[in-house]
Amino acid sequence: MLDMKKALTLFILGTLISSQLLAQTPPALKFIKDEDLKKDIYELAGDAFRGRRAGTLDEMRAAAWVAQKAQEAGLKPAGDDGTYFQFYNIHRTRVSNRSAISINNQPVELWKQIWPTQPLETHLDAPVLWLKSMADTTADLKGKVVALNIIAPQPLPAAGMSLWGFRYTSLAIRQQTAVLRRQGVTAIIFVADPTVEGSIAFIGHNYQEGLYQVDGITINTAAKVQPLPVMVVAAQLAGALQQSGAHIKSDVSIDSFQYPSVNVVAQAGGTDPQLSKEYVLFSGHHDHDGIGPAVDRDSIWNGADDNASVTVGMLAIGRAWVAKPGKRSALFVWHGAEERGLLGSRWYAAHPTVNKQAIVAVLNADMIGRNSIDSAALLGSIPPHKNSTALLDMAMKANEQLTHFKVDFSWDDAKHPEGWYFRSDHLPYAQAGIPALFFTSLLHPDYHTPKDEPAGINIAKLAKMTRWMYATGWLVSQTVARPALDAK
Ligand SMILES: [Zn+2]
Repeated sequence: MLDMKKALTLFILGTLISSQLLAQTPPALKFIKDEDLKKDIYELAGDAFRGRRAGTLDEMRAAAWVAQKAQEAGLKPAGDDGTYFQFYNIHRTRVSNRSAISINNQPVELWKQIWPTQPLETHLDAPVLWLKSMADTTADLKGKVVALNIIAPQPLPAAGMSLWGFRYTSLAIRQQTAVLRRQGVTAIIFVADPTVEGSIAFIGHNYQEGLYQVDGITINTAAKVQPLPVMVVAAQLAGALQQSGAHIKSDVSIDSFQYPSVNVVAQAGGTDPQLSKEYVLFSGHHDHDGIGPAVDRDSIWNGADDNASVTVGMLAIGRAWVAKPGKRSALFVWHGAEERGLLGSRWYAAHPTVNKQAIVAVLNADMIGRNSIDSAALLGSIPPHKNSTALLDMAMKANEQLTHFKVDFSWDDAKHPEGWYFRSDHLPYAQAGIPALFFTSLLHPDYHTPKDEPAGINIAKLAKMTRWMYATGWLVSQTVARPALDAK
């Protein structure tokens, strides 16, 4: 038999090793309950919240619901001035419904027959020159209003890609406009392509909504170019534009609005005197698209997967964290106005309510309740998107220990046509140099339609994704060294 001293050494060593492993296993998994997730998602994504569109009362009511639930979970306020809220203004410009456009002296109906593609004050009273094809662009077009058919873009958006008709149209318009702009045209009228005839209501709705920005933060798009009026017209107007002596008169004016939008921010304190000054940030968004074009007579875009799923998942993580706090503190930010261009996260990353240096990692998720229960995707995991190998390792370790998803990394490929990495709230944090990951169960046919309803959510999948985020956050919280940023 072993001598006593050796046995004792081995025993102590064994305890140390096992307690280390235990410390890495999240201790409050039982607080992430299917029935809570189900009850919460049916409330938040129910028709009563009318799709939670940013800048509307519906988004405000959803934010109040989240704050109330966070309070019930035992989370403390961490927004502005001791509240659960961080308000900011979003700035919207859109084409005014007072605008009037006529072709050959016949009024054309705004948003039914003609769609200005951007909010731009436009006063035209001019002949229209019909271009039979892009080959006609060699003529002298300087100062002319031109009309032509939309030509299929090169390359075509990949088959089955999300929002395909909108991508097809925008890309085609961008390519043809670039050529015509160089010729010095004054305005362009595109005749809608029959390829996307079926989705013109949806495409047009996007133009009608206008543009949203958040105060003081300009989104870096392509180099600033002089705005050029570009309109799309229904195919039935092609004949009128092709007549000799065709003429357009337009008085397009702009409405602009400041709306309040809001992030909901809460926290649960950590247990370690030093590490509790730092935060693991759990991130999602509570807004969605509101009321839009009806599909099968349903005009409420519920956004159950996008992103009520993560909103309620974060509440469940909050309950677990309060029951058994980690060494570091947990910070929960339910962003507003994500669907309008990541506006809430851009705002929070620029105006955090805690010391920005104290945020050790951002675990963001968007859409976690659909597709096969064994599959999931993790973004921020392949260069150039990956910014912390240490954080990625923790997420993969949590998956290995607990959830066993077959993790799909292909959507994080810089060449992936969807550009999924750029479409959720981790982005402004990653750009600010904070280690960040993006958890998702990826696209499905109901994405951004009124059919993204609570009944379509796989609650067991949602619970499993929530546990993966929780377990990853727990590892971050318990590991003394904060996850290091990779060298550029
Ligand atoms: Zn979305």
